Amino acid sequence: MEELKRIWERVQGDLADEISAVSFDTWIKPIEAVSIDDTKIILKVPFAVNKNMIMTKYFSLIESSLESVTSHKFDIDVVVDEKSREIENVDPITVENTLNPKYTFSSFVVGNNNDIAYVASLALAERPADAAKNSNPLFLYGGSGLGKTHLMQAIGNYFIENYPTKKVLYTTSEKFTYELVNAIQKKTNQDFRNKYRHVDLLLIDDVQFFAGKERAQEEFFHTFNALFEADKLIVLTSDRLPSEIPQLEERLVGRFNSGLLADVQPPDFETRMAILKNKIQSEYLTVDDEIVEFIADSIKSNVRDLEGAVKRILVYAGIKRTNEISMDLATEALRDILSVQPRRAITTKLVIDEVERYYSLSKGSLVSKKRSADIALPRQIAMYICREILDDPSFPKIGEAFGGRDHTTVLHNVRKISSDIDTDAEVAKAVREIISNIKKG
Ligand code: ADP
Ligand code: MG
Repeated sequence: MEELKRIWERVQGDLADEISAVSFDTWIKPIEAVSIDDTKIILKVPFAVNKNMIMTKYFSLIESSLESVTSHKFDIDVVVDEKSREIENVDPITVENTLNPKYTFSSFVVGNNNDIAYVASLALAERPADAAKNSNPLFLYGGSGLGKTHLMQAIGNYFIENYPTKKVLYTTSEKFTYELVNAIQKKTNQDFRNKYRHVDLLLIDDVQFFAGKERAQEEFFHTFNALFEADKLIVLTSDRLPSEIPQLEERLVGRFNSGLLADVQPPDFETRMAILKNKIQSEYLTVDDEIVEFIADSIKSNVRDLEGAVKRILVYAGIKRTNEISMDLATEALRDILSVQPRRAITTKLVIDEVERYYSLSKGSLVSKKRSADIALPRQIAMYICREILDDPSFPKIGEAFGGRDHTTVLHNVRKISSDIDTDAEVAKAVREIISNIKKG
């Protein structure tokens, strides 16, 4: 046996020089030389797929190297390990590829809002062994339509392209749950387990839907542990942090928190512009910058809606049989979407602008030092409205916005209008109408 070990090490050494490190690690390293006699050497491999690969690609290499090491021509038998054969019989190696090929790293626009999630995902794809040690699981979280599924599938697509022998499985927590229920009914639990516990990369999208599903959580906990202990990679997405998912078992929260958490935020203006331009280019459209800006300005919350906007413009252009996208066409195409956009953020500037407009005052009069009566009342009203409807209406902040006035002045003015409203119908009406204008946007 000692002799066999020595021979096999030398053969492996030969092969390591002949083929790439990845192929060597995947196909040659797992081979175990189990017996030798005068005529025959038996090699054992863990899976049928290893045997297939060796027979088709590496057999003659192994044969000739063996001959040169031993100066003897052996018959070679490759056998599959009995222990793993059982697993394979119930789990055919093929894992269907359900990834969208469009979701790649190169089609992802990186901005301040998503750079950490992007870098973490790319690092995991490029250096899976490091990731298994340092950032497993990778947990991507953030609002809907911000690119979580895109990034997760980009990792999967990268694996398929660069590590063809690694098994990638993408699913959603809902599909996982559904399959589990099915497996329990059909008594095929073992198949289910084999499917999920023998992959190199498991991608589970939208894990917030595990909420309240106890049986699925239980099963997933064991799946997670099996993979984790075998240094297999797990990537998860969710619309919120693990600790914020309701009815999620503590032990799963703990597991989800134990790797690397990375969030995606809504894109800023520049990123929205870049995403739009990217999209427009990929559709072979020509759209003026002014219109792109208009869209980027109007749709803020989410990338899916940005893409939706481009699609609508495309459809409209088709109907009108034109490639020239005018501002009119864009506005018309987006009318429905724009009306359901969330309200614009209410700022002191917005309030000041509206009050000046309402009283037909020139721009800047309210923040000026002027104290004439035609300006003083509107200014007091504007301060009062700020206090009423701003998200963060501190007196010092309001004072600051009105040309650096003292917070006690603001306090005084707000109190005055507050009592005027009850006694002066004119003031009450002005306040009501201005607030309504602001909220209408
Ligand atoms: P989530 O899973 O976070 O709800 P998705 O990944 O499904 O969001 O993204 C919605 C759409 O927006 C997809 O078509 C995706 O390709 C696109 N998308 C999101 N973020 C980006 C980005 N940074 N660059 C390019 N496309 C993006
Ligand atoms: Mg998604």
